[in-house]
Amino acid sequence: MNNEKQSEAMARSTIVSDQGSPCQKLINELEAQRADIVDVQTRSRMMAAVAQKNTAPELKIRTVLRELGIHYRISNDDLPGSPDIANRGEKWAIFVNGCFWHGHKNCPKTKSTAKYRVPKTRADFWSDKLRANRARDAARCWELRQMGYRVLILWECALFDPADVVTRLATFCKGRN
Ligand SMILES: [Zn+2]
Repeated sequence: MNNEKQSEAMARSTIVSDQGSPCQKLINELEAQRADIVDVQTRSRMMAAVAQKNTAPELKIRTVLRELGIHYRISNDDLPGSPDIANRGEKWAIFVNGCFWHGHKNCPKTKSTAKYRVPKTRADFWSDKLRANRARDAARCWELRQMGYRVLILWECALFDPADVVTRLATFCKGRN
C-alpha cells in the first residue's frame, strides 16, 4: 500500500469511527429515512393485501354460500375488477366491499352520512383516493353488466345483520334479483 492510499484509508476510518462527525450524522439520518420508507412500503403492501383478498367478511360470505349449497369461484382475475366471488356458468359476481376503502354512504360501521367517511387527517388525499376507488368500482360493475353478469355489492357492514345477508345471497344467487 503506498502512502497516498494509506492516508486515504485512515481518513475514511476516522470518519466512520467518529459518531459525532457531520458525515456520520448524515449517514444516520439517511438510514433512519430508509428504515421509515421500508416501513411505509411494508405497511401499504399489508393494507393492499387486506383490501384485496380473504378478508374476514369475505370468508363469512363464502361460508354462507357453502351452507346454501351455492357453487362459486374465488379466482376471478380474468373478469373485470376481479370479483371476490363469481359463477361464470350462471353469470353472477359478488364484491365484498370494505366500508371505508370503498366509500360506503349511510354506513352504520363508518357512521357516514349521505357522504362517505373521509378521515380528518390528510383529508384531501383521502377524499381523492376514496373518490377514485368509488369510480373504479362503478366502472367494473358496469363492465360486468355489459358482459351479461348480475352484480351484487355486499358491504362489510351488512354482516351486522347476518340473517338479512343469508336471504339476500340466496335470492341473488338463485337469480331472483
Ligand atoms: Zn358500510
